[in-house]
Amino acid sequence: HAKKTGGNNFQFFTPRLNQMAHERFAVEAELRRALEHEEFVLHYQPKVDLVTGHFSGMEALIRWQHPVRGLIMPEEFITIAEESGLLHQISKWIIPTVCRQIQQWQQQGIGKISAAVNLSASFFQHRDFEETVEASLLETGIPPECLELELTEATIMSDPQRVLGSMAAMKALGLQLSIDDFGIGYSSLSYLKKLPVDKLKIDQSFIRNIARDQDNAAVVRAVISIGRSMQLKVIAEGVENASQLAWLQAEGSEEAQGYYFSRPLPVPKMTALLKQNANFLHNPRGREQLKQ
Ligand code: C2E
Ligand code: MG
Ligand code: MG
Ligand code: MG
Repeated sequence: HAKKTGGNNFQFFTPRLNQMAHERFAVEAELRRALEHEEFVLHYQPKVDLVTGHFSGMEALIRWQHPVRGLIMPEEFITIAEESGLLHQISKWIIPTVCRQIQQWQQQGIGKISAAVNLSASFFQHRDFEETVEASLLETGIPPECLELELTEATIMSDPQRVLGSMAAMKALGLQLSIDDFGIGYSSLSYLKKLPVDKLKIDQSFIRNIARDQDNAAVVRAVISIGRSMQLKVIAEGVENASQLAWLQAEGSEEAQGYYFSRPLPVPKMTALLKQNANFLHNPRGREQLKQ
């Protein structure tokens, strides 16, 4: 039992902390139930090739379809899931689910399309991770380069030696590797050179005010230039309007992702978009119609 000698502050905070602990416990229980009842869904967001205007790939983003609360976004549950160890099981579901979806799209004649999965540090470092990837590739027979993994700088730096080993193993299998939210972390350029990555995803915070904020513009130019000299692809995240797109095109950016092209879509809508062979640069009307 808590001491009662903490003064007013203590008494003020205690009920709130209890409340938070209680809510957290409730969320954990709910997450467990959600896993059993398969309430998680993946939405997919296009990545656009700025040269051709076509799909360059897509990103799988998790949502929780709660029976009462409706669609819950990852920011509301990923941290609790990770801290309570449940993200492990969720991740073991995500990887095969994405591989099966890629397989299905191929069987529907859509052709070779890649999808990216976001990975938490704890799962990437777990031995189950490599087994899960290998088993999913084996089961579905999809080309390994169709599966892309997105890691943040924080994930990489959490245990560089170990993560580097897993990254090398994934490259040996033929997967694509990206650094997500690039620019807000603390990885040094000398370190970047040692990483077996294919792509840098510029964090959306730099894209937001790109036309007006000289500091952000400088960061984005620098990342594009690092990409060129290190032979890494660069993709801009969070492109929401035509002026951001124009700025990126003028700077020679080759890939982008954001609400301007499409929000993350549930599978049926994404399938429709894929079947249209949508051109995101030349067919803004088609694009508008498919916006949620
Ligand atoms: P992220 O991987 O950096 O994903 C990009 C986020 O930005 C997504 O949010 C996406 O919906 C959103 N976004 C895309 N375009 C735009 C835009 O033009 N404007 C704005 N304002 N936002 C845009 P979402 O789906 O809520 O995911 C948030 C984060 O949750 C992700 O950031 C990722 O870190 C994490 N996450 C999502 N799915 C998974 C998953 O399956 N596993 C793990 N471990 N983390 C996930
Ligand atoms: Mg991502
Ligand atoms: Mg990101
Ligand atoms: Mg993010």
